[in-house]
Amino acid sequence: MIDFSLSDDQKQLQDLARKFAKEEMIPKAAHHDKTGEYPREIAKKAWELGLMNTHIPAEYGGLGLGVLEGCIITEELAYGCTGISTAMEANTLAAAPVIVAGNDEQKKEFLGRLTAEPKFAAYCVTEPGAGSDVSGIRTTAKKVGDDYVINGSKMWITNGGVADWYFVLAYTDPSLKHKGMSGFVVPANTPGITVGKKEWNMGQRASDTRGITFEDVKVPAKWRLGKEGDGFKIAMSAFDHTRPPVAAGAVGLARRAMDEAIQYSQTRKAFGQPIAGFQAISFMIADMTKDIEAGRLLVHRAAWAIDSGQRNTRFAAMAKAYCADMAMRVATDAVQVFGGYGYSEEYPVEKLMRDAKIYQIYEGTSQIQRLIIAKEIFERDR
Ligand SMILES: Cc1cc2nc3c(=O)[nH]c(=O)nc-3n(C[C@H](O)[C@H](O)[C@H](O)COP(=O)(O)OP(=O)(O)OC[C@H]3O[C@@H](n4cnc5c(N)ncnc54)[C@H](O)[C@@H]3O)c2cc1C
Repeated sequence: MIDFSLSDDQKQLQDLARKFAKEEMIPKAAHHDKTGEYPREIAKKAWELGLMNTHIPAEYGGLGLGVLEGCIITEELAYGCTGISTAMEANTLAAAPVIVAGNDEQKKEFLGRLTAEPKFAAYCVTEPGAGSDVSGIRTTAKKVGDDYVINGSKMWITNGGVADWYFVLAYTDPSLKHKGMSGFVVPANTPGITVGKKEWNMGQRASDTRGITFEDVKVPAKWRLGKEGDGFKIAMSAFDHTRPPVAAGAVGLARRAMDEAIQYSQTRKAFGQPIAGFQAISFMIADMTKDIEAGRLLVHRAAWAIDSGQRNTRFAAMAKAYCADMAMRVATDAVQVFGGYGYSEEYPVEKLMRDAKIYQIYEGTSQIQRLIIAKEIFERDR
């Protein structure tokens, strides 16, 4: 039998996150969007309530909860503001390689830092010349005695300006392509690291995105995750854990856009009646409800698979692609329901439309998700 209901503990988490979004995020979302100010205080409160780092194992100070619980929380926080929830969620992405491949000392040190204090971390893979094609990165890590010396530039790093440590992917042997990459945890205060200016992006402006340059940055060999050459595998396997919650964020955004559209359509009148009475509007909203529900099912499917110890790469990619595209469509339709007011900063839906776009780009574009799904079909199934 399939059971779609949440457990009492999951419902409690959902209620907590929903209340937090309503009381702490929604009232401040417009301010952070306009100013780009980092939502440090909001994240601190979320951390204190146990809404961050839920997936970190209990022995390293986390709650040891599953990816599904992370998705339930993220959907609610994203309903509040995806700029703010992305700032918090970036910790999940940075921590994933350490959870997947770290040894006890590395986990104690770096996961422990996130659970002991409200600190942030960042995942540094993308570079100015390479995003989707990870093999095109140029950052190198050269072994010198007991250290590695890292040189290179990373780009579009979420939490770049506030992180306490970075996960960094670099070539230890470029001649081996994917198999020549290694992953490192690099404390942010290591000499040789320069953090660039905050990028002023289309949406999710509360989130801090920057370029980071590594110039002769010395990292002890003990902070390399796994073996030399394991880096690409580690960096990519992190996505099996993080794409479901990212997709859940897109569901939360879409739900918010739908709620705004429903409310507006019941009060705005045209031709002598509320616009909700026009089938063109009510069908748009019916599609929103249907697609949000389908998206959430995919998210929970992907999360359930990894929590049950199964390989979930295809489901994580399906959830990410579907929910990202769905959120963009729903937010765009919500603007349409608002008519001219939808285009104005005075109303909430233009922000949702701007915020939605990045879901189709970060953590692998919608095209790359389809590439992964196709690979699963043609290379694994046949
Ligand atoms: C706000 C923001 C936050 C981010 N945060 C992080 C972060 O924390 N850490 C991090 O490492 N990176 C981060 N990124 C980077 C993000 O993951 C990349 O932007 C993304 O992977 C795409 O890479 P690119 O920008 O280089 O685009 P490109 O790879 O140059 O792609 C350009 C276009 O070509 C398409 N394309 C590329 N290859 C193919 C193909 N084989 N088949 C079909 N289409 C293809 C893409 O889908 C896209 O439409 C962030 C980006 C942004 C904008």
